[in-house]
Amino acid sequence: MLNRRDILHERRLIKRAIDEIHNGEAKKINFVWMEANGCTGNIISFLNADQPDVLYFMEEMVNLKFSPSLMQAEGEVAYEEFLEVLDTNFILGVEGALTNMDEGFYNIFATYKGVRIPTVEAISLASKKAKAIIAIGTCASFGGISAARPNPTGCTSLGGFLGREVINIPGCPANPLWVMGTIASIILNKKVEVDEKGRPIMFFKETNHTNCPRRSYFDNKVFADKLGDKECMIKVGCKGPITKAYCPLGLWNSRINWPVEANTPCIGCASEFFPDGTEPFVK
Ligand code: SF4
Repeated sequence: MLNRRDILHERRLIKRAIDEIHNGEAKKINFVWMEANGCTGNIISFLNADQPDVLYFMEEMVNLKFSPSLMQAEGEVAYEEFLEVLDTNFILGVEGALTNMDEGFYNIFATYKGVRIPTVEAISLASKKAKAIIAIGTCASFGGISAARPNPTGCTSLGGFLGREVINIPGCPANPLWVMGTIASIILNKKVEVDEKGRPIMFFKETNHTNCPRRSYFDNKVFADKLGDKECMIKVGCKGPITKAYCPLGLWNSRINWPVEANTPCIGCASEFFPDGTEPFVK
């Protein structure tokens, strides 16, 4: 079981990265955030970051060079800015699943000089030059909701599409501190230790079940009969036992809470089985 020191791990990493940038031992790095097939929930989640917040992150840790949701430029100018950053030292973050079905028609990145450029083409291009590649969220990591049955657009994960290892930070959405902590490691030139699914071990070492405050109920076989009961929710659908994540320790929304403590089962959103293999979410 993780302890309190592990909980602060990402905060220490982020602080150290910022300190080293300030004293010249490390450098701010360009960051490209691309959006493939998904709901853009990860960039929204990222905007909720605190300690540090996203403005501090962008001013002190990275130069956010491209983000369809946040950048000012649009159209051909935005595409040119994207091309420019490819000749620099940059980290590539991708949210959303990928598909090249029907020539990539389901997600168009840009129309440049009259030519439509599918997102998969732009991501392939960027992936060849990136210092590190991060799949942000469950769709990019494992296919997620975008690849759920019957998967009409043929979506797949970023690593599956590129045919190479990437760092997977699942979660629907990914917790912003998991993303920032991973980027801090890259800035510090630390090897990001990952598990067999490409997930940073510092955030995905154990299941939510391992660290759940209701775990003693589970161990004593005392189960909730309905939502709202205070006991272990496994009989009403909780997927904590099959979901490796950091939720009970790192928490969400300014470290306030996570689903089980808000009286709703873990639906396994960070699991590689989500959503087909974790339904029904509630029994
Ligand atoms: Fe495990 Fe869920 Fe029960 Fe918590 S509520 S002990 S995560 S099954």
